[in-house]
Amino acid sequence: MKIRSIETLDLRGKRVFIRVDFNVPVKDGVVKNDKRIRSALDTINYALSKNAKVILASHLGRPKGGFEQKYSMMPVGERLKELLKKDIKVADDCIGDGVKKLVADMKEGEVLLLENLRFHKEEEANDENFAKELASLCDVYINDAFGTAHRAHASTEGMAHFVKEKAAGFLMLKEVEHLDRVLLSPEKPFITILGGAKVSDKISVITNLMKKVDTFIIGGAMAYTFLKAQGYKMGKSLVEDDRLDVAKEILDNARKSGAEILLPEDHIVAKDENSEPVATSSVNIEDDMIGYDIGPKTIRKFSDALKKAKTIFFNGPSGLFENPKFANGTFEIVKAVAELKGVVSVAGGGDTVTAIESLKLEGKFTHISTGGGASLEFMEGKELPGIKILEE
Ligand code: ADP
Ligand code: MG
Repeated sequence: MKIRSIETLDLRGKRVFIRVDFNVPVKDGVVKNDKRIRSALDTINYALSKNAKVILASHLGRPKGGFEQKYSMMPVGERLKELLKKDIKVADDCIGDGVKKLVADMKEGEVLLLENLRFHKEEEANDENFAKELASLCDVYINDAFGTAHRAHASTEGMAHFVKEKAAGFLMLKEVEHLDRVLLSPEKPFITILGGAKVSDKISVITNLMKKVDTFIIGGAMAYTFLKAQGYKMGKSLVEDDRLDVAKEILDNARKSGAEILLPEDHIVAKDENSEPVATSSVNIEDDMIGYDIGPKTIRKFSDALKKAKTIFFNGPSGLFENPKFANGTFEIVKAVAELKGVVSVAGGGDTVTAIESLKLEGKFTHISTGGGASLEFMEGKELPGIKILEE
């Protein structure tokens, strides 16, 4: 299924509602990281170039269902003004008579940013009346919020049923194009790097990719569950004992379907997060020790394996990289991917992207997904409601 592109619609003079992902960090009334706002500029500027009346809406943070100053879109509006080099209006709500009046008074080429959608609990409940209220504000619905595409909320799914003309913005199109390419037609060998704390978060991804992937490279604490399932000693490391059977099953299935699973051969361990890190001499971890990162032998093994890849999907850090003592493994794997030439490399997941950005290596990846949960559900093969609604 193909999703409709914003470029196929006639936006001239129309009221165009763009669901954006402006869920940015705000501190003391100032936007701390404007990456998500900048990611939406192509779509906003395109609509403006067509002389549309541009209505922008997003959620921000996790308000409890009513107005909360710290989750107001006001600071986002301030930053957006600077980025667009243009005056914009910010509404004090996202529905109601005041908003209707603001929209009715809009001129072509103007921008109105609505207040946080989640100040109404009807947004997340995908309430039909609320969705209709939002839909009544516009002639055209554009979804450019990939980060919330896995949620069927009023602004990401519900309202689209009540607007005739709907399409994806450029950010959404780019996300779908890159993730589809990896999922549906990866050039082989296809290697998936997984990590993070828990196997349970990643089981569906592994299952969905099993038949497509040549090699899984598994680091992070999730590797310990696989290793323990094979009889190795993992000390006091984070192991999901209730997932040992699942881990065994995955290893069996991989053997049957010819997918290789690479696991750590050594680790960086410590008594606790604040103690001195030491490298283990083997796969086993001593009884009183905790694994926090992959060891040097493993880094070499993983980096070598990556050299033969033509396609790489990367989700999950190889260790507790938030602590500089245990960041080396993750950073070395990021660098190993970044150094490869002629490879399609796609990264997804909030923490993975943070690790890549902290090394300033974003530019070395083919695509860095803006959606953590959404990119994972996409790779799980799930239908994302915010995308499905845009299919032609
Ligand atoms: P992403 O956000 O990229 O999808 P996850 O949220 O699945 O990644 O996993 C990232 C988290 O896993 C990080 O907070 C990291 O510290 C943690 N983690 C990775 N390896 C370990 C480990 N050995 N012990 C404890 N936590 C770990
Ligand atoms: Mg995470």
